[in-house]
Amino acid sequence: MKKGRMLVVIGVIITAVWLGTLLIINNSYRNNAKKYNDARAQLLSRSIESVTSSYEQFSNFIFETIVNTEEVTERLAEANEASTIEKAVIREELYRSFETIYNISNSYEFRQLHFHLKDGESFLRMHAKDKFGDHLFDVRESIRIANVDKRYVTGFEEGRIFNGYRFVYPLYHNDSHVGSVEVSISLKSIINILNDMYPTTVIGFILDREVMETTVFADEQSHYQLSAVSDQYVVDKDVYQTQLNINQQLFDNPIFFNAYQQTVTPNLNSRESFTELFHFQGENYLIVYLETLNIQQQSVGYYTFVMPAREYKAIVSTRRIMIITSTVVYLLIALMLYVLYQRQQAILTLATRDPLTGLYNRHKFNQLVEKHIKSKQKHALMILDIDHFKHVNDTYGHNVGDEVLVALAQQMTLVLDHSEIFARHGGEEFVVFFPQTSLAHAKIVADILRRTIEKKVMPTVGHVTISIGLTDTVPHEHIIHTIERADKALYEAKRLGRNRVVIQSSKA
Ligand code: GH3
Ligand code: MG
Ligand code: MG
Repeated sequence: MKKGRMLVVIGVIITAVWLGTLLIINNSYRNNAKKYNDARAQLLSRSIESVTSSYEQFSNFIFETIVNTEEVTERLAEANEASTIEKAVIREELYRSFETIYNISNSYEFRQLHFHLKDGESFLRMHAKDKFGDHLFDVRESIRIANVDKRYVTGFEEGRIFNGYRFVYPLYHNDSHVGSVEVSISLKSIINILNDMYPTTVIGFILDREVMETTVFADEQSHYQLSAVSDQYVVDKDVYQTQLNINQQLFDNPIFFNAYQQTVTPNLNSRESFTELFHFQGENYLIVYLETLNIQQQSVGYYTFVMPAREYKAIVSTRRIMIITSTVVYLLIALMLYVLYQRQQAILTLATRDPLTGLYNRHKFNQLVEKHIKSKQKHALMILDIDHFKHVNDTYGHNVGDEVLVALAQQMTLVLDHSEIFARHGGEEFVVFFPQTSLAHAKIVADILRRTIEKKVMPTVGHVTISIGLTDTVPHEHIIHTIERADKALYEAKRLGRNRVVIQSSKA
């Protein structure tokens, strides 16, 4: 019983260790996956930085060589003081002088060249010549910084017409501030280069819908369409059309798109960059959304990337191998434990049972009975011995003698009930202990057993008889003394002619 409980405890422990191992494997998988995702996200983020910084240098070059000239700043100084009609003349002049260079720079992906007066009034948009005169400080932080703080400013910003990366320079004429000029590139140009760098990655940009709606001229909002991922976001149609990529067709599959959307949408509210792994038809895809801040450090949108993540297979299969290995080890240990347990049970049987009859042996009998004798209750004990057994052996042989012993043990098992403890005491002697039983009651059982044996036809030999010595126990006495008394009674039974029960009371 105790051994069984021990087995359960050990079983629980190794199961716990196994489950713990699975947990560790899963954690390490998650860590590896996170490391992989983070590394990817970082690479993309650096790529964006390096693309914008290349453009910035180009923009600086344009500013230094063409824009920041005596002629231009003088014109602008005049414009600040001019009437509407005079302004129109200056605007036209400026436009003509930049027309060629603007068209060339357009082919280098520069989308905007925009002059502003020192109070933030839009003076000339090379990209929209007839849109001017609007004040920009409230909607264009970069213009406000360049003209109020009078410093160069750069970063992403939504505009009246287009969004883009802005490079805004304050302009001076004879050391006095005359306004600013902005060179900017569209997101399309950044994404085009990223597309060249990562040909299998589907790249896009989604912009906060509210930001677009509150900033862009009403008649220019048609440049945008709702994002398919979420109606909180819009996409620049121009950018959207550049998203042509060998994996773009995946998004045409509604099953893919649904799953993609369900993975992305819950993360969008966070307004923070995120990465998600995504499984589709046996392939792994990594989704990376990089949060984009504007010049005021407000979160206004995301760069979106979806890329096949083949390397993920290695991470996933490492986990699978580890799970299988640890489970196999667990099963082996469990099996080993079970075999050990079975063996121990077998050894235990050997130590407690008589191999011929299967009854308890004397050692086990003493062990079981001792506990009872220690109690204050009265118990009974009897010894039974086959009469003239030597004769059986001598006449029919030892094997037949053995068969008789086995048959006798079987009869004992049938007659006695579960409360009684009985064993082979040695040779052809057996002992029976009756817990909390009076001598009178035990005598009745002893007589039933004796008569049963007498009537029973034994193999080969026919009939045998038994003699029984019966006694009661004295609380706390050693079992040896109880057995001695029963032995005396047995001796008396033999002396009186055998096949009978003799009682030797402890009080006698
Ligand atoms: P009684 O008890 O009636 O006085 O006569 P008995 O012939 O039974 O007396 P005794 O105790 O002298 O003989 C016991 C015999 O039991 C001796 C031995 O050969 C036999 N015996 C003891 N153990 C075994 C056993 O395991 N198998 C067989 N076949 N015989 C056994
Ligand atoms: Mg004997
Ligand atoms: Mg005998």
